[in-house]
Amino acid sequence: MKVIAETHSHTVACSHAYSTITENARAAAQKGLHFLCVTEHGPAMKDGPHEWFFKNLPQAVPDELEGISILRGAEANILDYQGTLDIPDTDLNRLDWVIASYHTVCCEPGSKQEHTNGWLSVASNPLVDVIGHCGDARFDFDFDTVIAAFAQYGKIVEINAHSFDCRPGSKKRCREVALLCKKYQVPVVCSSDAHFYTQIGKVQPALDMLREIEFPEEMILNIDVERFQKIAQEKSPKKQ
Ligand SMILES: [Zn+2]
Ligand SMILES: [Zn+2]
Repeated sequence: MKVIAETHSHTVACSHAYSTITENARAAAQKGLHFLCVTEHGPAMKDGPHEWFFKNLPQAVPDELEGISILRGAEANILDYQGTLDIPDTDLNRLDWVIASYHTVCCEPGSKQEHTNGWLSVASNPLVDVIGHCGDARFDFDFDTVIAAFAQYGKIVEINAHSFDCRPGSKKRCREVALLCKKYQVPVVCSSDAHFYTQIGKVQPALDMLREIEFPEEMILNIDVERFQKIAQEKSPKKQ
């Protein structure tokens, strides 16, 4: 198993990441990937780009670069437990790949019930494509209820390899999340969450975990070119 799409990447548009879109695309090409999702942090992150970044992205950045298909997206911040996002719907609507994530710097962790309510609201938002690193123990939630809702609303769950190193308790919890995705037939993508070009496509720990739990390969969307192409097309036309 090898990924053909990097589904979560950051750039110099936020100051805690260190490569350009072009450098990331070049790294993706060198590693034999076919797709790169540009998913910058939303403007509520302290050093995130201005909201104009997302407004201008679809017209400013081409859909092919260095031989790689570019999905112009975002990692929107979830700001509360009603599922409010920090990018306006009109802008999300024009993006190809929208991840929604909780970060402690943009939303103070609350109770398990609050996190559950928050994810249920996000699940029902048709502008969100991907659930970002939900294995984070600081935002514990009712896995069974929420992952069933991800299935109901056709969400994709991200298995974020970067979380295994940096988000407390993530490895064990990501495994539990993945087991429930298997149970409820929620498709997943494995991402690196790269903040520098050398990390693009580095998702092996996530793939290894999925193999260990015998996760069905046909439900891992970014290990097959045709499968990912199809989902990319499905997710993009919402902007028309
Ligand atoms: Zn970041
Ligand atoms: Zn994130």
